[in-house]
Amino acid sequence: MTPAPTPGQSRSQELFDRARAVTPGGVNSPVRAFNAVGGTPRFIRSAQGAWLTDVDGNDYVDLICSWGPMLLGHAHPEVVAAVQAAVARGTSYGTPTEGEVALVEEIIGRTPVEKVRLVSSGTEATMSAIRLARGFTGRDVVVKFAGCYHGHLDALLASAGSGLTTFSIPGTPGVPESSTALTLVLPYNDRVAVEAVFAEHGDRIACLITEAAPGNMGVVPPAPGFNQFLADTSRQHGALFISDEVMTGFRVSRSGQWGTDGAVEGWRPDLMTFGKVMGGGLPAAAFGGRADVMASLAPDGPVYQAGTLSGNPIATAAGLTTLQLATPEVYAHLDTVADALRAGVAEAFTTAGLPHVIQSTGSMFSVFFTDEPAVDFAGASRTDAAAYGAFFHAMLDRGVHLPPSAYEAWFVSAAHDERAVQTVLDALPAAAQAAAA
Ligand code: PLP
Repeated sequence: MTPAPTPGQSRSQELFDRARAVTPGGVNSPVRAFNAVGGTPRFIRSAQGAWLTDVDGNDYVDLICSWGPMLLGHAHPEVVAAVQAAVARGTSYGTPTEGEVALVEEIIGRTPVEKVRLVSSGTEATMSAIRLARGFTGRDVVVKFAGCYHGHLDALLASAGSGLTTFSIPGTPGVPESSTALTLVLPYNDRVAVEAVFAEHGDRIACLITEAAPGNMGVVPPAPGFNQFLADTSRQHGALFISDEVMTGFRVSRSGQWGTDGAVEGWRPDLMTFGKVMGGGLPAAAFGGRADVMASLAPDGPVYQAGTLSGNPIATAAGLTTLQLATPEVYAHLDTVADALRAGVAEAFTTAGLPHVIQSTGSMFSVFFTDEPAVDFAGASRTDAAAYGAFFHAMLDRGVHLPPSAYEAWFVSAAHDERAVQTVLDALPAAAQAAAA
């Protein structure tokens, strides 16, 4: 599965060899490995706007965008200036700061949450939200959907999408059965399954957690009204509805997925989780929701949650500046770029006779190498991962860096300009032919 190093990648190869000697798989998060597509991960030296530059001096249009955070593109001058100014004032105090208040106010201004607690990763956000839901309701059972990834907390590492799907890991050793025994996993978009599980276990269910629009099995949007149905069903049974917007939040609209369904239909989740964009590329994440639920959190209430670096001043400066610059024009631009790329993919794949379905929520999209739309994890799993590997490498050779997995979303940024889009469009026909071969 490991092709010989291509000329022009010798420094990446050297670093990868060094990395593998000291770090499992040579990477600090499994999704960065090329195991699923073969070859050597590109070690990146710098990034600017829509472009990555590797240590061998090769440039790539970036369609990973750090797996979501880089909404404005890399090294945006105002974000860089805010971070530099923050660093110069000290890196961490362990006491409250004005920046934390401003970032939380910005989140509350964009979403239906009433109170927010800042943390440092999406995993922490979902883990804390689950603990809070259990503490608030006094119940233990958690309902999730197959193919939804909520971070690497034990309780939710069951049929979890993302890297587990990429590497065909159904669950993971190291998670005791007792940790997932209270987690019930359902097929996504399946109202009958949700009704059945609440009918049977309703009085034991603390919460139902879902990706607001799943992006970790590729993008599988909720059927119209599905999120509202989940909110209503949870409420009828006294369970909390947790909408995980770590990936979609502040990306697919000014607020996130909720801006496209909840705000229109008039419902709100009990708790929400955020990350990625709200940190502007630094480690910041959050969970928040109903004031009465959040009142159960220490120090106001008995449910404990804490973090040495939570609300870190540099991360909050990057996140706040990113959100302040994420104007309606930015979201309109993301949509235009995504439309151009989707049209290019459709044309190239059709010409190459390659079966494909493009699924989106807002500007976030995935290309499934199948005939049938995917409405759940089983459908998403039917994508032709081997064909994706050939496609991925043909794109990479032509200067476009896609996620090294068939089961991930493609992300664009405000910095994807005509030159970046044209580079992708120029690469697509030959890459589609390579995948069809
Ligand atoms: N929730 C969702 C929907 C995610 O996509 C992710 C990460 O991809 C997480 C939670 C976990 O976030 P983190 O990787 O910051 O821990």
